[in-house]
Amino acid sequence: MYRVLALLLGILLFYAPFALLVKATAQLLESQGLIYVVGDVHRACLRMPINWAFLDPGKLIARVLMNPLYLTVFILAVLSFFLAPLFCGWLCPAGNIPEHLNRFVPRRLKLNLRGKLDPAPIRYGFLVGFILSPKLGGSIACSFCNYSQLQRVLSAVFGDFHALAYWSSTAIITFALWFFVLGVFIDGGRGWCNFACPAGALQNLFHRVGSKLPFTLKIRFFRDRCNDCGRCVDACPTWAIREARNSISVNRFVCNACKDCVVACPNGALAYSRGGEAE
Ligand code: SF4
Ligand code: SF4
Repeated sequence: MYRVLALLLGILLFYAPFALLVKATAQLLESQGLIYVVGDVHRACLRMPINWAFLDPGKLIARVLMNPLYLTVFILAVLSFFLAPLFCGWLCPAGNIPEHLNRFVPRRLKLNLRGKLDPAPIRYGFLVGFILSPKLGGSIACSFCNYSQLQRVLSAVFGDFHALAYWSSTAIITFALWFFVLGVFIDGGRGWCNFACPAGALQNLFHRVGSKLPFTLKIRFFRDRCNDCGRCVDACPTWAIREARNSISVNRFVCNACKDCVVACPNGALAYSRGGEAE
């Protein structure tokens, strides 16, 4: 229930017609003569700044001076270092909506790759391709952004039908892949997040490093309390929990700190807390 409330908060903060965080920041900056008000998710883009940072740092600096909201993805990455990627697991509507709808789909209708495929190599291969794509003549435009697709759906629901008219054929392919094939109809509902979200990949890279330090928060495993029931493995939407010789391990490259495993464990063998990765 708390995750659904967090999802609604994410919609209110980032997505038009609400976009409370985006609009408040934009209006504050406009009063300083720094920005023109566009109150939608593009003002807090989570993708393009990653690309600028690697390929054109001068452009990133120039854009951030006009609109500090472009720093959002890097702020989230630093927070992930200390707290794990809570944004992905709790606030991001583009990841949470397919995941929650996925719970209503019968298991036999879902593509089940859990335990058969390690998402991390695909995820970070995609991140490298995403960064290099403009250099190789490709495009990383909004048509391929699930975050932007959701903006258009929500805008249309609230009466802005131009948002749907914007959909080109490539955007519809993105929508179908993100929402249906790798969302509602894949086991866990987080296929797009696992494979094709550069913002999530960046946050998990920081989490992977930060989780090594004892003072950071992370999902931790207490071996002596575990009876190998496997409930946490089934509960994990990102397939981050793996069973390994009477034990389990958490894949920090994909865990988004949703805490579903903590709730599912009947013995308190998993916790979101400070300390070593396992005990
Ligand atoms: S390991 Fe636990 S906290 Fe991490 S994604 Fe899986 S269920 Fe969520
Ligand atoms: S749900 Fe708890 S007891 Fe069961 S395998 Fe996972 S950690 Fe062990």
